[in-house]
Parts: sequence; structure tokens; C-alpha cells
Amino acid sequence: MLRSSARSKWWGWGQEGESYHLPDRERFWSYLRERLGDTSVTPRLESLAGVELAPSRLPQSLVSELCRAVGREAVSAEAADRACFSLGKGYKDLVRIRRGEVPKPTDVVVRPRTEEHVLELLGIAGRERLAVVPFGGGTSVVGGVEPAADGPTITLDLAELSRPLGIDKHSATATVEAGMMGPDLERFLNPAGFTLGHFPQSFMYSTVGGWIATRSAGQSSTRYGTATERVQSLRLAHPEGILHTPDVPAAAAGPDLVQLIAGSEGTLGVITQATLRLAPLPEVQDYRGYLLPSFAEGVEAARELMQAGLAPAVLRLSDEAETESVLALRAAPHGLSAAVEGAGRWYLARKGLSLESGAVMILGFEGDEAEVRGDRAVAGRVLRRHGAASLGGGPGRAWKRGRYEAPHLRDLLLDRGVMIDTLETAITWERYLPLYAAVRDALRDALGERSVVMAHLSHSYTNGGSIYYTFLAPQERGAELEQWDRVKAAATDAVVRNGGALSHHHGIGVEHRRWMESYLGEQGARWLAAVKAALDPGDIMNPGKLVPPPAAGSASSSELGDA
Ligand SMILES: Cc1cc2nc3c(=O)[nH]c(=O)nc-3n(C[C@H](O)[C@H](O)[C@H](O)COP(=O)(O)OP(=O)(O)OC[C@H]3O[C@@H](n4cnc5c(N)ncnc54)[C@H](O)[C@@H]3O)c2cc1C
Repeated sequence: MLRSSARSKWWGWGQEGESYHLPDRERFWSYLRERLGDTSVTPRLESLAGVELAPSRLPQSLVSELCRAVGREAVSAEAADRACFSLGKGYKDLVRIRRGEVPKPTDVVVRPRTEEHVLELLGIAGRERLAVVPFGGGTSVVGGVEPAADGPTITLDLAELSRPLGIDKHSATATVEAGMMGPDLERFLNPAGFTLGHFPQSFMYSTVGGWIATRSAGQSSTRYGTATERVQSLRLAHPEGILHTPDVPAAAAGPDLVQLIAGSEGTLGVITQATLRLAPLPEVQDYRGYLLPSFAEGVEAARELMQAGLAPAVLRLSDEAETESVLALRAAPHGLSAAVEGAGRWYLARKGLSLESGAVMILGFEGDEAEVRGDRAVAGRVLRRHGAASLGGGPGRAWKRGRYEAPHLRDLLLDRGVMIDTLETAITWERYLPLYAAVRDALRDALGERSVVMAHLSHSYTNGGSIYYTFLAPQERGAELEQWDRVKAAATDAVVRNGGALSHHHGIGVEHRRWMESYLGEQGARWLAAVKAALDPGDIMNPGKLVPPPAAGSASSSELGDA
């Protein structure tokens, strides 16, 4: 058995034994009951042994060849591995695995240990017309790691291709193998005084290669840049060999090949190594909360903060609904803390603000002491102009402490029969609020009255920002996937119709693929398909993802990709 070890929580997030700690269960569940009504406990499969899988389509002779290439212990056609490595960690994935449904299982999971192994495996796949799915941490929420081809598939688990290769302190870069997970990367960099500054919420279980392949954005990307902005050079094993992009800090030598590979979601090849640009570990981390009169006012403040030249590590603004839900997740104050909160509320009321109707902003600065002090002073002036009140360091510390915990809450909600999912987009400031409202309303219409729709701004630029929605509703028992499809389609239609990014950081995978042509335009879609066809003429690399299907009538080079 490979990664689907006894401790891994195949039906949810993280490891067995980990779960969300609700400080005040009654407060939270009554908040939800008021909005969703009663929901009922949804049973889930007790063990992976209950998953019914179609048998592997690979003949034994081919499995033996794979074993000869990488070693017997690195090849698994066991049902438990095939099931775990065929789904990601989105809502739809969890609903399916909890019901024991893996509609398109991979045929074999192979764990290469070297780049040579990867090349050899791609050679076998090319010759035998096998689809290849690169698998980093498997945290995709857009169907990136589920097999989508009709023919046989091998999944390349990159867990062993995860060695640190070196740090160039003078140039502030590090080279690592692409299967390295977030915590291992920071453990490698921090003793040398560096950080990558890339902290997606999936940080604990996602990989460097996965981040680059999906153009991931972390919670501190407003200061440190998204994953792809931190890449200096890459090695890509592809069906015809190795592409190693020049290892230089910048170049005017035609289109940037790193940026062609970034976001390619395994459709062009397997990223085996990356040289990353590092940042010094910050001397000071200063995260604080502010309350703004409304989300709209907060968005204006965020725009001004960015256009004033600030680069906060975290600038996260919750809308009114999300602010309310954060309160419901806290324990109701008692005794002294109730008195302190009472005084705080009195202070807010004098400024015309209330926690029940305002919008909370978490604003975190990092750097050396003087830089942080200076940034905080500029930010204070901007925020005061927008009617904000400081909530002090408490909300900042609480957010930092809990930032990797929310996915565990999703597991509790699924157990209770609640649909909970997220989606994200980005747009310029000028069109920000109309898009925010259009998608929120589309979600509400599709979900019905018994629902919660909330959003936040989490990645800001001088010219615009992201919008990240979370939505909840009682699951439609027996039709959970149809319900989700309907809601997802309504929201994504609204994103594209209103000019938003089809995704700001989750990527395209299977789930957003059908909107790619309307998003990119006919020419854009054709260019992307032409690149894929030229670089992967056998269409073995992660077919059925990202690249829109060829327009009716045009020739397809593939017998593997879906129709
Ligand atoms: C709870 C949760 C929170 C999340 N939070 C964030 C967030 O804050 N920010 C964010 O950006 N995303 C987030 N995501 C989405 C996901 O974690 C990211 O897309 C992440 O970058 C995927 O990394 P991974 O290593 O898990 O890749 P995988 O899920 O294994 O793969 C993702 C895609 O990349 C391809 N791929 C993986 N490795 C390679 C490689 N070495 N070479 C070529 N292709 C490869 C795969 O084939 C697939 O198409 C979250 C997901 C979950 C479940």
C-alpha cells in the first residue's frame, strides 16, 4: 500500500484523529439551524474496503514492466490505493468517496523516485497509449487528479521525488524536487534564514510541483507573490525528454517558458524540480483586526492600501455574512471576557459600528521592525478615513492560529448532511462590487432560501482583487452531486458573464474546463489546444483537463481524451 496509509483520512481532510474544535457547539449549531433548518446525519462508508472499483485494465505483463522500471514496492494496483489516488479533496470528491463511488479509477499507482524513473514511465505510457496523471498532494478541488480519459491510466505519485537539492544563500534561491510538501520546504529553508512565503490553506498536504502546476496563491501572496511568481527555473519531464528552463533571474528572450508550464496542470509534462526565489524570514509579524462599516467600504479601503504602495502579508476582508459566521464560531464570552467585550462593543457603537453588521479585516504586516511600524501607520490613516475601528491583535492572532483548521470543519458539516463548498475569482477594482453581488445572488438563487452565502477578499493587487465565496445548504439527499452541479454551474456562469477570472487560484481541472472557451475566447482556446497538441501529440499527459475540447469538426490527435 502506498500513501493511503492507515492514518490518512481518506473521507476528509488531514489525518485520522484530527478534527475541528468548536469552542461553543451549541452557539454554532443554532446559528446554522436558524439559517438551514434541520439537517440529518449522513452515514459514510466505514472503510475503503467498501469502495466498489472496476478492475484494473492493465495486463499483468505491463504491470511487471512498470515494476521493473521503478521497483515492485513502488507500484500498486491495490483497490485502496487506486481509490485514494483517483480523487482530490473538493466537496464533490468527498461526497463520492464517502459513498464509495470512484467512477473512473486509475488503473495503477506508480511512485517514481528519480527523474529518470519519470522519463522511463512516460516512455512506457507513450508506447502503450496510457494516460498519465501527475499526483502531488492530491488536494485539487477541481478534479485535477481524477482520471478523465476513457482508456487506461497510470497515476504518478510524486511523494518520493521530494528531496531538497540546495540553497544558494548569495542569490537567495533554493532548488528542490517537486513532490516536496509545504512543511518540509519551510523546514528546509527556515534554518538558513529564508522562507518561500507560500502558505495556501492546503499547505500541510500540498506540494511545490502542485502549487506551480495550478498557479496556486497562498494566504501571504499579497506580499510574497503567488507560487509562479516565486519560480526562477524548472525542469519538466515531458513525453519527448527534459526541458530545463534557463536558470536566470530575468530575461528578454521571447515568451517565458516557466510561465507556459506554470498552470499547465500536468497536461504538458511532470515538473520534477524547481528553483525558487526566497525571501528573508521576517523579523516581525504583526497581524491585527479592524472593523469596517461595510464590505463595500472595506473594498475601497483595500484598494487604497494597495495603491498607497503597501504590501501586507495578509489583507483579508470578510463580508457581513462571513463576519457574522466568524462570530458564531467563537465561544460566547463569560465573566471578565464578557465585560471586556461589552466595553469593546460600547466603543464600536460610539463610532457607529457593530460586529453584527460590519465587515472584519485582518491586516498583517511582516518585515523588519521599522518597515512594519511605517506600514502600520500608513494603513491606520487609510483605514480611519474609511471609518474603521481597530480590534487589536486578538483577531489577527486567532486567524493565524486557526488558518489551517477550517477544512476540518467541512468534515463535521458533511457528517451532518450540510453541503459546503467554496469558489473563487478575481476582477479589477472598478468592476469588483458588481461581480461580487452577481455571483452571490446567483448562488443564493441556486441554493434556495435555506442557505448561507458568504465571501471574502483575500488577495489584493494595485489593480484589483480576488473574491472567495463559501456556501452552505442542506444536502439534497440522494441527489447531492446534481445539487452541487446546478449550484456550481449557476455561479460559474455568473463569474464568466460578469468578466471575472474563471479561477484566481484553484485552477481549471475537469470542473471549470467547459467554461474555458467562453472565458478565453475562440482564439485563446485554439492556441491552448495547439500548444498541448504540439508538445504532447499522443495526448497522454492528464487528458481531459484544462484544455477545452477541440471544436466540433476539427481533427483530434487523441484517442484517449474524452469527447
Ligand atoms: C482544504 C483546501 C484548501 C486549499 N487552499 C488553497 C489555497 O489557499 N490556495 C490555493 O492556491 N489552492 C488551495 N487549494 C487547492 C489546492 O491545494 C492547490 O491547487 C494546490 O496547489 C494543489 O497542490 P497539490 O500538490 O495537492 O497538487 P495535486 O492536487 O496533486 O495536483 C493538482 C494539479 O497539478 C498537477 N500536478 C501536481 N504535481 C505536478 C507536477 N509535479 N508536475 C506537473 N503537474 C503536477 C496534477 O496533475 C493536477 O492537475 C486548497 C485545497 C483544499 C482541499
